[in-house]
Amino acid sequence: MAPATGCVFCAIVAGEVPADLVLDEPSYVAFLDQRPVFKGHVLLVPREHVDTLPDLPAELRDGFLEASQRLARAVVDGLGAQGSFVAINNTVSQSVPHLHLHVVPRTKGDGLRGFFWPRTKYADGERASYAATLRAALT
Ligand code: AMP
Ligand code: ZN
Repeated sequence: MAPATGCVFCAIVAGEVPADLVLDEPSYVAFLDQRPVFKGHVLLVPREHVDTLPDLPAELRDGFLEASQRLARAVVDGLGAQGSFVAINNTVSQSVPHLHLHVVPRTKGDGLRGFFWPRTKYADGERASYAATLRAALT
């Protein structure tokens, strides 16, 4: 797919917007997030513009996950993190509409305690209904 007009991550991939690249490969690019949760916070993007994870073509899936594994390893081996938080926002809370996977270095006591996720509860019978609806959507 052609670069998307006005897409800042397409511009980074094309070398038109500067970025601190950490991975520069035929199908994927990773670079430092300009507003890191912690130093070393990396964004992995496919070179090809796709909006969200469900849009990623099948032939790019394995490589995308494999690159994310290497980045998660690199923040530990290279930066001394104890682990990482890996996340993708799809549409909701997605501020750049070009698929990107966050790899955030984590260390015990870093204060993040996970992102703030309010938790809810199922009413009686709702769990089975939600599970059945999802199973049906997956078939
Ligand atoms: P999200 O909110 O999941 O869409 O994340 C988008 C991320 O892209 C944010 O963490 C931004 O700080 C980051 N970001 C936006 N523009 C740039 C840029 N030009 N270079 C590096 N990171 C960027
Ligand atoms: Zn793009």
